Amino acid sequence: MVSRKDTIMKAARRTAKQAQVAASRRTPKTRGRIEAEPHRHCVVCWKPISLESEPAICNDLNCETVNERRERSRKRWAFLMYSGVAIFVGMIIVQVVV
Ligand SMILES: [Zn+2]
Repeated sequence: MVSRKDTIMKAARRTAKQAQVAASRRTPKTRGRIEAEPHRHCVVCWKPISLESEPAICNDLNCETVNERRERSRKRWAFLMYSGVAIFVGMIIVQVVV
């Protein structure tokens, strides 16, 4: 039979090991990145790109397409949301006035 304490201990040990592995893997890279000159990342593939790139995508054609599609759906959602708010506010105004 495995006691509850045993299970917890095992889980804790595993988590600690994972954290250690992640830390040792991350540290050298992160340090190099932080000391590098400021940059931004492609919003699609997260490749580092120059700060001036606008929109924030790399030269990859695929990223351009994906970004464009995202922009369009984002705009559509923003439009729908604003319309909803406008209708809602309009209904309140109508109820107050009438
Ligand atoms: Zn990209």
